[in-house]
Amino acid sequence: MMALDRCGAYYVGELPDRSPCIYVDAMLGWLARWLRVLGHDTRYDPSVGDEELAATPCLLVTRDVGLFRRRGRNALLLVTEDHVAWIAAVSVVKGVPVEVDFSRTRCPLCNAPLIEVPREAVDVPPRVSSDRYWRCPQCGKAYWIGGHWRRIGEVLRRAGDVAASCRPRPLGEGHGAADHL
Ligand SMILES: [Zn+2]
Repeated sequence: MMALDRCGAYYVGELPDRSPCIYVDAMLGWLARWLRVLGHDTRYDPSVGDEELAATPCLLVTRDVGLFRRRGRNALLLVTEDHVAWIAAVSVVKGVPVEVDFSRTRCPLCNAPLIEVPREAVDVPPRVSSDRYWRCPQCGKAYWIGGHWRRIGEVLRRAGDVAASCRPRPLGEGHGAADHL
């Protein structure tokens, strides 16, 4: 049996990665939102050029093999089209489980750490029923555990399954017997 592992990713750097933040490239806005929910300090700015990305103190996550090679350290290259596997690959490289810890969750829109507040402190529709509420101190958006939470849980469960067999490896190695899982 040949091939990439289930998350189809390459990594260069020490494991687990201990960079203070994650910087995803312009192709990965979807992933940025999920990583923030999972509590990762995640930067995403489509206007930023390769030069700045290559020099970031953060873990660089990219779909661009040229940028990955140029960077040469603390970088994760996502090859697969399976978006859920992207979440798995980052979690494996960071050495953390694919789990939401609400004390660490960040605003998916702007990356600020959320603050838990009483219901009265946020503007939510009357029909909403949730045990907990959060507000983003930066953009003001309110969050609660609603019906969409089931879908979020399903995505994270699948990402956890993929992570169990995800071993991002250096690019250019692993051809031949060593590549077998
Ligand atoms: Zn925000």
